[in-house]
Amino acid sequence: METIEKLFSFIDEYTENTAKEHEMTYLEGVLETLNTWLEGEIKPADLEPSKEEIRKAIQLVLLKGMHQSTQPNHQMTPDSLGLLLGYFVEQFYEKELTSNRKITVLDPAIGTGNLLLTVMGLVGDKIEGIGVEIDDLLIQLAAASAELEKRSVSLYRQDALENLIIDPVDAVICDLPVGYYPNDEVAKDYEVKAPEGMTYAHHLFIEQSLKYVKDGGYLFFLVPSHIFESEQSSILNKFLTSKAWIQAVVQLPDELFKSKAHAKCLFILQKKNDTGKPVKEVLLAKVPNLKNIKALELFFAKVQKWKKEQK
Ligand code: SAM
Repeated sequence: METIEKLFSFIDEYTENTAKEHEMTYLEGVLETLNTWLEGEIKPADLEPSKEEIRKAIQLVLLKGMHQSTQPNHQMTPDSLGLLLGYFVEQFYEKELTSNRKITVLDPAIGTGNLLLTVMGLVGDKIEGIGVEIDDLLIQLAAASAELEKRSVSLYRQDALENLIIDPVDAVICDLPVGYYPNDEVAKDYEVKAPEGMTYAHHLFIEQSLKYVKDGGYLFFLVPSHIFESEQSSILNKFLTSKAWIQAVVQLPDELFKSKAHAKCLFILQKKNDTGKPVKEVLLAKVPNLKNIKALELFFAKVQKWKKEQK
């Protein structure tokens, strides 16, 4: 058996027993297992797993737990999406990352932490992570995973659309929660607020992220593919035109989503600053089926060509 499978069995077995014994959900059992592992009361026998092997095994148990209970908006971001998003983080921060400068990356809806930890796994320890999450169980899962993987992540459990006590960050990554935001008292202070009725949470998250990123910083969002077709999209467009330069809209392969209605795309922005300027041409591309290696190579070549042309 591979290390990841053995590690999965180790976490899964202890989780099943704990969940049964204490009448908890499987996901609560995962948290209990990870914390018991962290406290040193249990450990996987004869294994020296790497950080990435730990992340992948935890991802598998979380997937199992989410199948059983979680609502769609709380779903973990799978590493297929995290790796694609991470590739773009590497491209946009190539200079900083190759000069060994650390960058701060905020995920304002960190959930289980899998997206941020996947990107950190790809880029390495050059990222200082910061995460915000409203759900108590998910943020504890993120904390335990980050600690087991020995990744540097600061976490805040709160509504990310209220004031945050963080310094401006170099970059933002986020698989945005989609749908209406229920707290009108908070939404009323946002420029993207809908004139009537509730505002889309994903629009508010974009505005909030632009507030907490440094001038000239990049933002990488997984957004619904139909984001520019809603009745609130003109307000979002107007806001974006004043605050950001759109860098890229990358469609993601259909097979990564349950249905067309759930499809997302990768939306990359740069916060305007005094010294920068918009890209000559916004990158519009579609990621092919991930199993089609030839087509994937062509896709990455297209991104490289686009990058060169912007200089
Ligand atoms: N990237 C995450 C991962 O890998 O687990 C998944 C993100 S999930 C699509 C969206 C997350 O946003 C959920 O975990 C949800 O609890 C969180 N969320 C929704 N509204 C929020 C709010 N107002 N403040 C903070 N987090 C929120």
